[in-house]
Amino acid sequence: MGIAENILEIREGIPEGVTLVSVSKYQPVEALQEAYAAGERVFGESRAQEMAEKYNILPKDIEWHMIGHLQTNKVKYIAPFVSLIHSVDSLELLSQINKSAAKSDRVIDCLIQLHVAAEESKFGFIPGEASLILSSEEFKAMKHVRIRGVMGMATHTDDMERVKSDFRAIKGEYDQLKERFFAQCDYFNTISMGMSGDYQIAINEGSTMIRIGTTIFGERKK
Ligand SMILES: *Cc1c(COP(=O)(O)O)cnc(C)c1O
Repeated sequence: MGIAENILEIREGIPEGVTLVSVSKYQPVEALQEAYAAGERVFGESRAQEMAEKYNILPKDIEWHMIGHLQTNKVKYIAPFVSLIHSVDSLELLSQINKSAAKSDRVIDCLIQLHVAAEESKFGFIPGEASLILSSEEFKAMKHVRIRGVMGMATHTDDMERVKSDFRAIKGEYDQLKERFFAQCDYFNTISMGMSGDYQIAINEGSTMIRIGTTIFGERKK
């Protein structure tokens, strides 16, 4: 099947209110153009420079989402145009995003990345840690970032009970942050969880945003 059919099939299988992010990292521009022609406007990338290059070439009505680990010294490449940064994993990074956004006279939407998976290598805050940042004076002074919700990944495993409980942990942390810091904020409404292998489970557990690469574009060439 082609990219257009894959997108259509995913869209038909997900409820209204769940946003699809087409994860186009490592894919050539032609693949994104094919997805664009099929109506896709939200693309996820994991490297800042690659995203900036694609942004320059492709139509300007695309929403660019940063989903990979972002180094503070790379924020400047994407700050002028990025729509949503899913991978905020430190106060230092958030502070850099805030500074770069100010230079572009923007407010950049961000998600707090949570770490609930068993793998050690994944970035993000363990449940409970994120509240330290959100209650800090440094965060409260930031005028150029807006926290929209959380992002997380489940453990890479065939054990679907583990996957389910990881997603439940992400949703639980979202609910706590919402209640404690964002109860009055309609914009705090995003739970980014679910990838090609587990997005149905993620949706059942409350996901509002899924990030799908392989099922749309096929295997990535590195
Ligand atoms: C690569 C990646 C995805 C997409 O993964 P697929 O299994 O190809 O759908 C989703 N989220 C993040 C954070 C990624 O790095």
